[in-house]
Amino acid sequence: MALLGLADPLPKHGKTMGYVRVPFSTNDSAYGFIASPITVIANGDGPTALLLAGTQGDEFEGQIALSNLAREIEPDQIKGRIIIFPMANTPAAQAGVRNSPIDGLNLNRIFPGDVRGRTTSMLASYIERALMPESDIVVDLHSGGNSLEYLSCASYVDHLNTDESFRRLALAAAFGAPTTLAMKAFEDRSTSGAARRAGAVRVSAEIGGGGRVSKASVDMSYNGIRNVLDWASILPFPDCQRADTNMMEVEAGRDYHYALHDGLFEPWVSLGDHVKEGQIAGLIHDVATPGSAPQEVHFAADGNVVCLRTMSMTKRGDCVLHLAQLPSDNLLKNLEKAKASTWLKDSYEKNSRQRSRRPKASKGNNDAP
Ligand SMILES: [Zn+2]
Repeated sequence: MALLGLADPLPKHGKTMGYVRVPFSTNDSAYGFIASPITVIANGDGPTALLLAGTQGDEFEGQIALSNLAREIEPDQIKGRIIIFPMANTPAAQAGVRNSPIDGLNLNRIFPGDVRGRTTSMLASYIERALMPESDIVVDLHSGGNSLEYLSCASYVDHLNTDESFRRLALAAAFGAPTTLAMKAFEDRSTSGAARRAGAVRVSAEIGGGGRVSKASVDMSYNGIRNVLDWASILPFPDCQRADTNMMEVEAGRDYHYALHDGLFEPWVSLGDHVKEGQIAGLIHDVATPGSAPQEVHFAADGNVVCLRTMSMTKRGDCVLHLAQLPSDNLLKNLEKAKASTWLKDSYEKNSRQRSRRPKASKGNNDAP
């Protein structure tokens, strides 16, 4: 097994399986480290794809899908490079919980991180400063974790820069999930903002959750990645199939629904249901107070239920579900264009033509690169 330090260059040839050493000194282990699994598969010219899972440690589907890919893919099958980092918040993934048990931090809320910070911050810094600048595209696999469950969705953060958004949408279309979510969200502290700062284009998926996995949700995660790698001309996928995706938009303030009471949550809807504003979403029961009526949670808007709380025990402030809504005509038009887009291949070919035309550095040539 290879051991990579935080400042070591990534391998550029062949297949390397091993660990990134994240220094972690304890009273029982003076020079110890946390071993974060990494696989790098490289072969010749081509784009680099970074595959992430376990950004939140209780999201298991992507971790399994990436573990399968790391075992299966060999360098002679690919063109370019694939970096597989399946337990991104490693201590959280080892414990099967959302946030790191070491420092309590949610990796997906602390980018760009700090190499001098605590463990989760060091991991964020490594991902943003070492892995992402080496990558053209980033696929970041999520699920609902232990407390929520999602429909099978590809998702991306809708950015103010329309070119950036279009490239993300093309990746999401290439993923080929039954539902695609355009998230209107603040992204700077997340892997999405990190990728943008590092010059890579990131797409995400939200598939499954509820503290368990199914073969269907693992297959959906695996096939989505293979579809993207096929689209990127890195690794052909003979079984490439994309769903005729249901495009939807999510706005945090409008579509996320929260509990305003402590108690036991009884949902009255299921994933995929179309609901109307004012309809009862569920009840919160205060069993500890005899005679108390349950509190009703009402939908604040029309929409489709794409994410639903699976834990019944609920506290004030917990998200119990979120909706997604029909897209604008403009977004639907962009989706059709994005499905036909090959921007990565085009920009890679253009760059390699420029590289091959570049004059060799020689004495007296002040314009040499
Ligand atoms: Zn997540």
